[in-house]
Amino acid sequence: MTISHHPPEDLLADYATGALDEAEQLVVGVHVADCPRCRRFVRAIERLAGASIEAAEPVAMAADAFDAVMARIDRRPQAAPRVSEAAEHDPELADLPE
Ligand SMILES: [Zn+2]
Repeated sequence: MTISHHPPEDLLADYATGALDEAEQLVVGVHVADCPRCRRFVRAIERLAGASIEAAEPVAMAADAFDAVMARIDRRPQAAPRVSEAAEHDPELADLPE
């Protein structure tokens, strides 16, 4: 299959930075998984975002910030199994992109 339509760059940038909602993230992610052109763009945005984080000035945090984050993580409900895990048990899902 030849890919002839690509998501706009602003949508790909939002995908790279995790700014999309779950459904949009899934749709764009499926496209990016199969499209080398968009995957290169997303990787470039990820490198730019990483470089900007590394270049940012450090900010002092509260002494208990780490413990507060870990407590919030512990309070989150368990995530649903990933598709790749579910595909192991359902042959109809085995051909879906990860
Ligand atoms: Zn594409």
